This record gives sequence, structure tokens and C-alpha cells, in this order.
Amino acid sequence: MKFISTRGQASALSFEDVILTGLASDGGLYLPEVIPQFSTTDIEAMRGLPYNELAFKIMAPFVDGEVSDVDLKDIIDRSYATFRHDAIAPLVQTGHNEFILELFQGPTLAFKDFALQFLGNLLDFILEKRQQKVVIMGATSGDTGSAAIEGCRHCKHVDIFILHPHKRVSEVQRRQMTTVIEDNVHNIALEGNFDDCQNMVKASFADQSFLPEGRQLVAVNSINWARIMAQIVYYFYAGVAVGSPARKVSFSVPTGNFGDIFAGYLASRMGLPIDQLVIATNQNDILHRCISRNDHSPQPLEHSLSPSMDIMVSSNFERMLFDLHGRDGNVIAKLMEASKSGSITLSDDALARARELFSSYRLNDDEVLEVIAQVYDRTEYLLDPHTAIGVQAARKTRRNKAVPMICLATAHPAKFPEAIQKAGCHDPVLPHHMSDLFDRKEHYQVLDNDIALVHRFISKNIHE
Ligand SMILES: *Cc1c(COP(=O)(O)O)cnc(C)c1O
Repeated sequence: MKFISTRGQASALSFEDVILTGLASDGGLYLPEVIPQFSTTDIEAMRGLPYNELAFKIMAPFVDGEVSDVDLKDIIDRSYATFRHDAIAPLVQTGHNEFILELFQGPTLAFKDFALQFLGNLLDFILEKRQQKVVIMGATSGDTGSAAIEGCRHCKHVDIFILHPHKRVSEVQRRQMTTVIEDNVHNIALEGNFDDCQNMVKASFADQSFLPEGRQLVAVNSINWARIMAQIVYYFYAGVAVGSPARKVSFSVPTGNFGDIFAGYLASRMGLPIDQLVIATNQNDILHRCISRNDHSPQPLEHSLSPSMDIMVSSNFERMLFDLHGRDGNVIAKLMEASKSGSITLSDDALARARELFSSYRLNDDEVLEVIAQVYDRTEYLLDPHTAIGVQAARKTRRNKAVPMICLATAHPAKFPEAIQKAGCHDPVLPHHMSDLFDRKEHYQVLDNDIALVHRFISKNIHE
């Protein structure tokens, strides 16, 4: 299997090489050249498979033998062994034909564990084989950083540097990162906001001359193909559990960078009979505006109660645009160039095709609190603020009540206790394995928003 850039210029890469790369050299994102297909019979045969076995079936066509079947199975087994629920991704019912897919049973309590536990193990495997070492540099507003650190803390061939905006991530989120005391883990609290962190990481990828000879940067944000690939699995797992392929199924996805829901889109392209994919956003609603009224103009960032969805522009939407425009890299290159000086307008045809599968809805913070309180009142089930957006968006946009609606629960409520308290619900309790989080020793470095300073810190702390 080859992987190609959405902008059509960069050369195609193999599976292993695409995992070790960030953006393509032409500025695009990588996608598989062909989308694997599963027939109705193939999907029927997925019924009853444990999560790990299903994960192998879904991922194998992308890996295409570059990692042997035995090794891939072993990487998958180790990646999900750290989850605290035997189902890995359990379903819970919250309404008539309405389900919650709990994607927060991993070590850092957010869905990002699904991809980042896997990516850490996969990276170490590839690097061991190549006798190579790499440096991970990533920016986080919370959940990505802790999941990436947890995924890479035991990697022998990876030094990981995570930048978070100083004093602007929640205490639970900060402590999940800074209490991991390992030689290869480095937390940088940057004097700035999340955009400053992200810009610094982007500039570092563009010019990696600050790294020692032979090292390169690897991306852990959702431009990394491994993240999308690992996330496709739970759509199939949940779909089959509620009766696919005989029954259609719908999903509602709390959306920020469009990585999670793009995996759902791919599941649909691969053969899962998805009726509706709901893009659920907070007040940072560029995707909702795009789908509902073809307005894809960046607006100033607003800080919300669902901080992991606070984005101005969703990077993975480019992968979607690529498919909506006949997979023509030249069209996307032009579109992205034009978007620098303003917004993107979709053709009527592209928009119509997107609307066949996608619907969208946006909630503000007050509405989020209402939903948390209401669902708790009716079911005693506690939603985190991100998941609450997905649940309400599903209820508002649902086209066919006979089709099961699965709402992705992207975080555990204990990660966002402030919102839960504001909603008037009881304090969410951290799972047992994290109950001493507030007593653990923290370690992080506060640095000025100065790229030369950060680069010096990194090169000084990279291991031989
Ligand atoms: C990252 C994150 C999201 C957004 O996912 P995308 O793939 O960026 O769309 C939603 N909810 C939570 C809790 C997250 O951590």
C-alpha cells in the first residue's frame, strides 16, 4: 500500500515511512492510495470478534505486510492491554436506540489513547528494526499531550517533548503529563497560548537543523496517519455490536480537528453501512458553518468548557476535501493556497455530496451544562462536556429514529470536573488507578515563548 499527499506533489510513501513523517513536503496530508473494501460477508464475519482481533482485521490491509502479521498482532495486544475495561470500547444505552461508546477506558481517560498507545508501540517496533532514534515534538491543549506521553514513556528509541500553554490547561490534564517521570519524557510549559505552542512546533518541523545528526521529528497530532487508522476500528466494533451490516448505524462525534470523525468517514468508505455522521461542535463552529451554510471562514478562537474542541481551522478537513474533489491533488493545492487569504467555498456538488452523509450542530457552554444535567437526571449517567455536545447534536439532527445512534464519549467526566460542578452534578470521581494523581510529584520546565530557547532545551535533553 502506498500513501499519497492531498496536494498531489510529494512522492508517495510506504506505510512505515508515512508513520515517521509529519506533513508531506508539499504541505499536504497523507492518505492511502486505495481504500480497502470489506464486503457484507466480511463484516458479518466480524460479529463477536474481540476488539484486538477486529483491530487486526481492519488495520492489516493498510499495513499490507510491511509489519508482519505476528508483530502487528503483538503491537495491538500490548496497546490495548493498558485499557481498564475488557470490552476496550464498551457501549452503554442512554435512550431509545441511543448509545454511548465509551472511548475513555484507556490510561489517560480520553479517546486519544486508542491511537497513541498504538502509535508508541508501533514507532518503537519500526525504530528498533531500523536501529534509528527519533524525537517527538507536539503541542497540546490537554488530551493529546498526556496520551502521547503515556504512549511513548516506555519507548527506547523516542525522546518526547510536549509543549503546553503555561497555566492554561486544566490541573488534571497538566498532572497527567507532568507526573510521568521518565528520562525520555519532557514537558515544556510555554509562556503563551496554545497557538504559540502549535506555531513553534510547526516551525520546528519546517527547519529541523537544531536536532543532532541523524535525528528527525515525528508528529503525534492527527496529521499522523496511524492515528486515523487506529480510530477506524471502533466504528466497526460498535456498528457490528448493534447489528451491522444487516442494520444501518449512525454516529455522533464531538469534533475539533476532524480526525476522529474522518476515521468514521473512512469506515463508511470501507463498507460499514453508516446512515449519518454528525459533526458536533462547540462555539468554535467552522465545520458546522461549512456544512450548514457553506461558510468555512476562520473566526477568532473562543475558550469553551470543551477545550479539546477549541480550534479555528480543522487540519484533517483537508483529507475530506480531497475526497470531495475527486482525489485531485491539484485542486486541493489551489484551494488551500486560496484559503490563506480568506475562506474556502465548496462547489455545490461537493457540498451536496458531503451532506448525504454528514449533518452538523453546534452548542454553546450554557447548552452543554443543560445537557449534562438533563442526561444525569434521566439516567444517572455523567457526560463529560465534549460528549454532551455529541449527544445533543445527535438528538437535534437525527434523521431516522429506527437507525441506532451511537454517540462517541471522547473523555471521562473526571477529566473536566469544573464543568460537571457547574452543571450541578456530583463531583466526578477519578478512576482508582489515578486516585493519587494530586499527590504525585510533578516535573516540568517553564520556558519563554522563544524558539531558540526551546530548541536549546530540546537538543540538550536528547539522549545519545
Ligand atoms: C481531541 C478531542 C476531541 C476532538 O477530536 P478531533 O479528532 O480533533 O476532532 C474531542 N473530545 C476530546 C475529549 C478530545 O480529547
